[in-house]
Amino acid sequence: MPNVYDAVVAGGGPAGLICAEIASGGGKNRVLVLEKKSGCGRKLLITGQSQCNLTHDGDIRDFFGHYGGNGQFLKAALMSFSNRDLLAAFADCGLMTETDKNGKVFPVSRKAADVLDVLVKRAEACGVIIKCGEPVRSVRVVCGDAEGGGDGGLFEIVTDFGRYLSKNFVVACGGITYPATGSDGDGYAIAKSLGHTVTPVSPALCGFVIGDYPFADLSGISFPNAKISLYHGNKKAHEGAGDILFTHKGVSGPGILHISRYAAAGDFIRVSFIEGMTAEKFRESLVRLAAENPKKLVRSVLLGIGGCCKGGRDGAVGGGGDGHEATVIPERFVRRAMEIAGADEEVTCAHLTKEHRNRLAEAFCDCKLTIESLGGINEAMVTRGGVSLREINPKTMESKLCKGLYFAGEVMDIDGDTGGYNLQAAFSTGHAAGADIEKKLHSAG
Ligand SMILES: Cc1cc2nc3c(=O)[nH]c(=O)nc-3n(C[C@H](O)[C@H](O)[C@H](O)COP(=O)(O)OP(=O)(O)OC[C@H]3O[C@@H](n4cnc5c(N)ncnc54)[C@H](O)[C@@H]3O)c2cc1C
Repeated sequence: MPNVYDAVVAGGGPAGLICAEIASGGGKNRVLVLEKKSGCGRKLLITGQSQCNLTHDGDIRDFFGHYGGNGQFLKAALMSFSNRDLLAAFADCGLMTETDKNGKVFPVSRKAADVLDVLVKRAEACGVIIKCGEPVRSVRVVCGDAEGGGDGGLFEIVTDFGRYLSKNFVVACGGITYPATGSDGDGYAIAKSLGHTVTPVSPALCGFVIGDYPFADLSGISFPNAKISLYHGNKKAHEGAGDILFTHKGVSGPGILHISRYAAAGDFIRVSFIEGMTAEKFRESLVRLAAENPKKLVRSVLLGIGGCCKGGRDGAVGGGGDGHEATVIPERFVRRAMEIAGADEEVTCAHLTKEHRNRLAEAFCDCKLTIESLGGINEAMVTRGGVSLREINPKTMESKLCKGLYFAGEVMDIDGDTGGYNLQAAFSTGHAAGADIEKKLHSAG
């Protein structure tokens, strides 16, 4: 039968590209990738601030706990194509990687484009045909006489430019966030049209819009390793540490993105902007510094208070005393914190009241910010929800409802923490789907 592919993959992101390469069986099988945008991997290109944090270091078993309640589903795929396997595959193609102090793995070149280049070249070297600018519009199962596929039939895939028949069909269309990269929810419509359930989708790993936000004009200021505690009502729900960034409407940065997967509108966070310092420690340090420098302005003493944390020498600016960098406090933040505390900008240490000291401790080390809403689809890194995992075989990524139909990557109800866990999930699930397709085609002769 003319124009019948062994596998058609919708989506040329990391999941789709690796799936296509593996499904091709090194060139034996006819595999086609249909990509909506004019080039593959648009989202991949912006990962890790275009440096691409492609996976995480360490034992692959440690990954299971980084996908909320869905780590169990990923177990088989992560074990059969682990972070080590991924890095070995890239190293084979000359792409060397390095690990930062937090265990995040990046290409040595720090270029996401190099990662994409390897994926595309590996697929093309195996004869995979990649057609860009050709979104899949609809898919249905049609009768046919070829073995495998669509319960003995074939998949008919329709685009604006043609109609393709395939024994296997893979949905690797990604989620709904950063829709300009091409991942805008098409995969869910396709899955539903083939009988699958899609759990409610929402943006995850995103910044917060803060109600009565006091730092709008300080947008761009960031603090390393801030301590962030999340509260539902008055109950502490989660605690973490990471960099925090002031935006025009709220807060973002790795520390916030990480905690965002546990947050909802109406929750609040309490933040210590100074690494390793509690409000109590802040108060003690300020009492001591004020006693030593009675004539100094409080605001100039506050500029150096970051050096007091974690057992460092009090007042020592630029060294935490325990190997940690002292937090550098921007002057604009100090002035704003004094304003929030109701303290006069020109007050000297000798005249600082206990009440103002307490309020300053709160502004610096126990700052309450109420989450008005979570950042929208244009700024969230991943999508929470997606094609229901109950209807997918976790070992093969094949649909339990429709033979020959597969899912790979973020289109499924999978979202991981920051740190390379999402790309590893895309690679491992894409690999599992590709391997099963190749195995079936191989055994069919
Ligand atoms: C700003 C940002 C930074 C990130 N940084 C990291 C990071 O450093 N590390 C990490 O692990 N994760 C990171 N992520 C998450 C990661 O990029 C995704 O989890 C990953 O790209 C998912 O891969 P995928 O192949 O499933 O989907 P995608 O990468 O979204 O690819 C899906 C592809 O399908 C195509 N498509 C959609 N609809 C159709 C259709 N109808 N027909 C044909 N093609 C279609 C899209 O154009 C797209 O190319 C980041 C995400 C963002 C937004």
